[in-house]
Amino acid sequence: MKKLLFILSSFCLCAGVLAQLPDLDRVQPGNWWVGMKNPKLQIMVHGNKIAERNVSLAYAGVKLVKVNKVENPNYLFLDIEITATAKPGTFPIEFTSAGKKSVSYNYELSSKNRSAGRVQGVTSKDLIYLIMPDRFSNGDVSNDKVNGMREMTLNRDSMYDRHGGDIQGIIDHLDYLKDLGITTVWCTPEIENDMPHASYHGYAVTDHYKIDPRYGTNELFKTYVEKCHAMGLKVIKDAVHNHIGSYHWTMLDPPMKDWVHQWSKFTQTTYKEQTVMDPYASAADKKLMLDGWFVRSMPDMNESNPYVQNFLTQNLIWWVEYAGVDGLRLDTYPYNDPAYMAQWAKDMKTEFPHLSIFGETLVGSVINQAFFTEGNTVSRGFDTHLPGITDTQVKDGIYEALNGKKGWASGVNRLYNTLANDFVYKDPSRNVIFMDNHDMSRYYSLVDEDINKFKSGLIMLFTTRGIPQIYYGTEILMKNLSNPDGLVRLDFQGGWKGDKSNKFTAEGRTDSENVAFNFVKKLANYRKNNAVLQTGKLMQYVPQDGVYVYFRYNEKKTVMVVVNSNEKEEKIDAKRFSERMNGFATAIDVISGVTTNISGLAIAPKTTEVFELKK
Ligand code: CA
Repeated sequence: MKKLLFILSSFCLCAGVLAQLPDLDRVQPGNWWVGMKNPKLQIMVHGNKIAERNVSLAYAGVKLVKVNKVENPNYLFLDIEITATAKPGTFPIEFTSAGKKSVSYNYELSSKNRSAGRVQGVTSKDLIYLIMPDRFSNGDVSNDKVNGMREMTLNRDSMYDRHGGDIQGIIDHLDYLKDLGITTVWCTPEIENDMPHASYHGYAVTDHYKIDPRYGTNELFKTYVEKCHAMGLKVIKDAVHNHIGSYHWTMLDPPMKDWVHQWSKFTQTTYKEQTVMDPYASAADKKLMLDGWFVRSMPDMNESNPYVQNFLTQNLIWWVEYAGVDGLRLDTYPYNDPAYMAQWAKDMKTEFPHLSIFGETLVGSVINQAFFTEGNTVSRGFDTHLPGITDTQVKDGIYEALNGKKGWASGVNRLYNTLANDFVYKDPSRNVIFMDNHDMSRYYSLVDEDINKFKSGLIMLFTTRGIPQIYYGTEILMKNLSNPDGLVRLDFQGGWKGDKSNKFTAEGRTDSENVAFNFVKKLANYRKNNAVLQTGKLMQYVPQDGVYVYFRYNEKKTVMVVVNSNEKEEKIDAKRFSERMNGFATAIDVISGVTTNISGLAIAPKTTEVFELKK
């Protein structure tokens, strides 16, 4: 009963909306393509009592298969089939009713964009740079405040308000990223978040088909992807299936009761991913994890509802085809409906075989991570079809190597042990590895602002297996603990006209910031130019007395990495590593360029070094 009351009240909230709703309000997706692998399309139509109208269309090769009416008469879901004979063009969809003025929508079907360089996929050849668009650079002050949006505060002194950063600001600094050695840009979601407060982070979407006007336009987003591609950079789009913003247009006038998961009172997820995989989990615990809301302002999508499934899947197919992005990062992966997520990943790969997908899995162990990946050795009854995940375990392993105490399972052994578990993955090289992101304390702070540790950790990150990702500002030593998270989302100095300093230039950086910047640049470009660190095999040796040694190698090159976690210099016994070192005479320090005879290798205290071996 309580549940019913809640639903009724949420419908009642919309009485005001209904009164002013146009006869035809929205059509989503608003256009589509011929030649897609899946000929089926479900078009969602919103308008005042639209369900009372008859629907018709006439276009060669396009069939209106079914008109679906749902609980709310303001919606229709049109099942369309676009057959192989359909040609690009436009046709009207007519909505008629006796005694009412007809309304129609001109539906456009385009040819697929087959230009080279689109949807390339992001692989272990890449280095990802994560940006929060509101906090990186303000390239267009005219969009700082947009009339009619719920949040109109622009205040750079507040962690929660909008700061004015945008897509143009990112475009303006692509040369900076390219110079740094970045190959792929990932932004937190750029789509509309028309929420009343703290809308800058992008995870409370209010319209899936629209770039937030404070970031730019759909056209500008497409231009941004094209400019990246022209410069040899790739683009990852951040996507959220699990939840929407409470001001999402479908929440203001819900199509049906079970569009989102309803609870009699606000019920939060338990954030306990174990319940999804625990063979002994109760159904109640599992339901709380999957159907509970992420936070109060983010209703939990009901992904077992076929209308919701079509809506979400088509939206991302639309974005990939429209803009040509190379990869998708799927937010809060473990909180989503598992069966739907598997089908979604499969559908995406069917349309775009080269598209990369990785799921955000901030979970507690290698096995918990692997559980969500495709083709793993963990029995879960079905395949997730999810190629990659965010590898929290490698992050924790590197931190432990940097900060932990020497021990059987601690210190460098933690990283070694973590990688030794890679047998559970079908392909661990597709895991995204990182030291921090927008939800975590910044890397430089977590290594005690120690530049030696900073360098050591980045060497491990850039030379072990996987797709490395860094967070904006790492290269200029941005710091802070994530308490609150706004502190790790500060503005990139120089991104705004009139900033005291411009960290995009060597002149604007302090000496220590330039040391960090030049180090990242050197290492990133070495990785970019040396396939051995991208796709070479990995061989690691059991750490001995706080010293961890591993190799990346292919037919052409061998790279050796030595992590010395001790307070004293350590000499390297090349004989122990003869499997990989035999036949080599010298080692070139990749960072300093200094060449040493391999019989005389010695690593300074608390230092990690990366060498290219030479005959
Ligand atoms: Ca702006």
